[in-house]
Amino acid sequence: MEHLSVADAQQCVLESVAVLGAEPVKLEQSLGRVLAEDVRANRDLPPYDVSAMDGYAVRSADLEQVPAILTIIEDIRAGDMPAKAVQDGQCARIMTGAPVPDGADAVIRVEDTQLVSIGGPLLNPLMKQLANRLSPQADKSLVVPHTEEEANGKSNSLLEAVQINVAVKPGNDIRPQGEGMRNGDVVLAAGTEITPGVIGVLATVKCAQVQVVRHPRVAILSTGNELEDMDDPVDPNKIPDSNSYALMAQVQALGIEPALLGIARDDPVELAEYLQRGLRFDVLLVSGGTSVGVHDYVRPTIEALGVQMKFWRVAMKPGHPVAFGSTADTFVFGLPGNPVSSMVCFEEFVAPALRRMMGHARLYRRTIAARLTHNVRQQAGRTEFIRVTLVKEGGGYAATSTGAQGSGMLLSMARADGLMVVPAESTGVAAGEQVTVQLLDGTVFQDDAGFRE
Ligand code: AMP
Ligand code: MG
Repeated sequence: MEHLSVADAQQCVLESVAVLGAEPVKLEQSLGRVLAEDVRANRDLPPYDVSAMDGYAVRSADLEQVPAILTIIEDIRAGDMPAKAVQDGQCARIMTGAPVPDGADAVIRVEDTQLVSIGGPLLNPLMKQLANRLSPQADKSLVVPHTEEEANGKSNSLLEAVQINVAVKPGNDIRPQGEGMRNGDVVLAAGTEITPGVIGVLATVKCAQVQVVRHPRVAILSTGNELEDMDDPVDPNKIPDSNSYALMAQVQALGIEPALLGIARDDPVELAEYLQRGLRFDVLLVSGGTSVGVHDYVRPTIEALGVQMKFWRVAMKPGHPVAFGSTADTFVFGLPGNPVSSMVCFEEFVAPALRRMMGHARLYRRTIAARLTHNVRQQAGRTEFIRVTLVKEGGGYAATSTGAQGSGMLLSMARADGLMVVPAESTGVAAGEQVTVQLLDGTVFQDDAGFRE
């Protein structure tokens, strides 16, 4: 069988898997999940025209000439309903989010106003004048600035009024009814990933329980006589099982809690038992034993258990002996035993498959362009994934190999910010050339803000 290219193998995997069914989860547990159904608004928001500012609800026609003085007829706080309509020469004090009273068509923010008091003995004549629509032409001598004590409401012997210093158009600083969302409209479509912002919208439409795409149940199995379990005493002749844990963490990074099945010996009977247990899951990741050694029993054993193999070699380094197959209920990835290979194959094949099953539209890790800081030689014919660190450089990044790249050298992976992809047709990359780097976890954050004010 011809070795598949990485792209063809990825396509084969993605064509095989499908989005899983829906399940309900509590809103509090839904972060990172994908909506399985459209979500609609259950009311208009805001429910009526509301003020966008702390200030005064006015009739814009009263402000053709400014400054103008308007009497304050009531106080409307968020949560209150206005009791009175605003007439000519009047306004209502209004807080952000409070409903705009009838008669008013604009809001003036408090910064553009000045509270004034209208003095005691002159109160009655002035009241008359106000009834005739108080305007800037009114006798200004009757109007004095409000003292602080009066502003605090300690004196009620004075008629409250406000001087408005700016003219505004109708609608100024009013958030119209339904501006945020309209009753019945789809506000979140099926397939949306639930981010904190989406959680806010779901809470707004009172979705205490959300229908999301089910998570795949994932099992992880290590194979090999040489492997030492975490709980075993240290034996200098053995190899510690790191794949179970590294793969576990890769699965966890996608938001799934996998089951660790342990270590199966290179024995067809024992292996078959473990594999059968794994075939009860949606996805089974088996590491080791997938190459062509005489004790590499994984492929024949899973085939004997009814797994239909789709491919078992890919033109890539590391990761060449990767295998993929399925039964009616389970997708099986045979990952190479070498720790770096199994992790790279997870990134290239398993992660996109799990993301698709979880309902995500974005399946692949983000890539960036970077400048390679040194020469890299490569044997044409297979895609190479070189572990690199990334350093910001001008507007871009400089990529440097993490060092020795043996597929058993797990530190090369532990130190990496990303996987630099050397395409199969390349025979090498020279220092200074642009390369593509797939970002690994942790690179979503950076050490500076990345912008200057
Ligand atoms: P295999 O694919 O079984 O031929 O294994 C290739 C190499 O990977 C061998 O050196 C194994 O010892 C090593 N290896 C296999 N499985 C694991 C594991 N679970 N953890 C660490 N190393 C492993
Ligand atoms: Mg082995």
